[in-house]
Amino acid sequence: MRTLGLIGGMSWESTAIYYRLLNEGVRARLGGLHSARLVLWSCDFEDIARRQAEGDWDGAGRILGEAGRALRAAGADGIVLCTNTMHKVASFIEEAAGLPFLHLADVTAAAIRAHGCRRPLLLATRYTMEDDFYKGRLRDRHGITVAVPDAEGRSEVHRVIYEELCRGVVDATSKARVLDVIARSRGEGCDGVILGCTELGMLLGPTDSPDPVLDTTRLHVEAALDFALAA
Ligand code: GLU
Repeated sequence: MRTLGLIGGMSWESTAIYYRLLNEGVRARLGGLHSARLVLWSCDFEDIARRQAEGDWDGAGRILGEAGRALRAAGADGIVLCTNTMHKVASFIEEAAGLPFLHLADVTAAAIRAHGCRRPLLLATRYTMEDDFYKGRLRDRHGITVAVPDAEGRSEVHRVIYEELCRGVVDATSKARVLDVIARSRGEGCDGVILGCTELGMLLGPTDSPDPVLDTTRLHVEAALDFALAA
């Protein structure tokens, strides 16, 4: 089994989900007392979130690059960055670590194709919904166009992520509001939902839309398991 290097803590609420799902996945695939070989670098999210808000992406990238380097030194064979948003600085990590990097947009693209979605709705942080690093990679590398909510919907999803889910709060009223964003997108022709933030699976699940609901945390974990257990 290969050793996975996780860069997490962004937030730790979702990193804990990765940890559980990776171990459950290894147990399901190998049986017995098998569990995942992992090295975890867990960041202080306050520092990272402040740099996001201030636009200091290079500074955040350098911090995560150092994390990647440290994971390699600790024996990691590949890197799993446990947040969609920080894929904005993926190149810092790939360069510093020099290891296979399981890019979440590529993993998500494969799932979108597998489900035959033609215009999925991307729910994520404002950075992921509005900047081009994620949507652009889906478009340019995979030929996939995603929709995003209108300005009001984007603000609400962003708020729910940072003010609630990243703090461990799952709120029914917020869920109803996000479901409303999904319902409106279906009226506008969307045919799938990308939970493009690793905490959104705390709030939404596969039964929350008649269309496919693609949880990037679960997709990333499956890809990481394939990598770790490849013959
Ligand atoms: N975990 C979230 C994501 O997948 C948001 C927190 C962050 O900015 O890293 O984008």
